[in-house]
Amino acid sequence: MEAHLHFMKDRFLGLTTERPLIISGPCSAESEEQVVSTAKALAALKRVHVLRAGVWKPRTRPSAFEGMGRPALAWLRAAQEATGLPTAVEVANSRHVEQALAAGISILWVGARTTANPFAVQEIADALKDTDVPILVKNPVNPDLELWIGALERINKAGVTRLGAIHRGFSTFERTRYRNKPNWEIPIELKRRVPGLPLICDPSHICGSTELLQAVSQTALDLNYDGLMIEAHIRPAEALSDAKQQLTPADLGTMLSHLVFRHESIDDVLTRTKLVELREKIDKIDRDILEIMADRMSVAEDIGHYKKDNNITILQSDRWDEIVHNRMKVGLEKNLTAAFVQKLFEIIHKESIYHQSRVMNIASSVEEAPAQSVEESAR
Ligand code: PEP
Ligand code: MN
Repeated sequence: MEAHLHFMKDRFLGLTTERPLIISGPCSAESEEQVVSTAKALAALKRVHVLRAGVWKPRTRPSAFEGMGRPALAWLRAAQEATGLPTAVEVANSRHVEQALAAGISILWVGARTTANPFAVQEIADALKDTDVPILVKNPVNPDLELWIGALERINKAGVTRLGAIHRGFSTFERTRYRNKPNWEIPIELKRRVPGLPLICDPSHICGSTELLQAVSQTALDLNYDGLMIEAHIRPAEALSDAKQQLTPADLGTMLSHLVFRHESIDDVLTRTKLVELREKIDKIDRDILEIMADRMSVAEDIGHYKKDNNITILQSDRWDEIVHNRMKVGLEKNLTAAFVQKLFEIIHKESIYHQSRVMNIASSVEEAPAQSVEESAR
């Protein structure tokens, strides 16, 4: 179905002409000192355009820190007065909208859990009628582009034209290296369906740690995103929420200075998206290979226990010949080369014997030099 959106085509919401738009600040506003000192350090980088901070925090479990609420809005105002940076907070209901607007907050965003709930989005949209504040809509927690577009449409119908989208990744049961899987094809499809809609990447909530932030930010820029929203805290280790993923302002400065801004055609972007998708697939397959190897070694250890209890020798050459013969046959059927299958199973076998011998307590010499001693004992 067509997406019906009428919005301001300025990619940076009229906030800057510099590319990309950078929104940064703590996950949560915790104290006036924390908000103001973080804001000052961010403003000093001269590369941050908007100060973010959560005031009402949607937490998974009720015992977690749920934000400082309304009093924290005044801290954001104080930070804005001290630095000149416009401010942004998350809103999840009409009361939040009213309080944030009354406190003079410059930009509002709808969080991922809220975007997934059309009743909540409609309530926010109704509270926004006749206002002119820019609204950013995060993707819903589930990988559903229609739900994301639906939320943008609801808010747009209320008359909000300074509209943008934030890609923060999607929840998944799969074990991935991300906190929220990026599924880059979804925001790219949003870009195709709603051309010109400002698109911002939130690598902090995609990554869940600071480790991959730069790589994910670079991918977003390579895919022609308009901005980044990155969490930064003056003392990340002390943060009351999302401590692991927040950078110090100084580290944010270093990271931004290492990002490469490319100017690309849409064709380049599409090719790159394909490449990103294929690399994600390879990453997943490699993780699966390691999982399967770990399972195989744990079975080898069970065999070790069995052999130990029954006094059976570790190496039985008939069994090894059978393995090589059989795996080679299957490998060739699957278009793998004989040399590869042979080497692969030699290495796997070596590692299995190592695990077995550890279990059987005959490993003192093996543990020191697993490669040689196991290799020899296997021949
Ligand atoms: C946040 O920005 O701190 C936040 C709660 O994000 P999300 O809605 O993406 O989980
Ligand atoms: Mn957060």
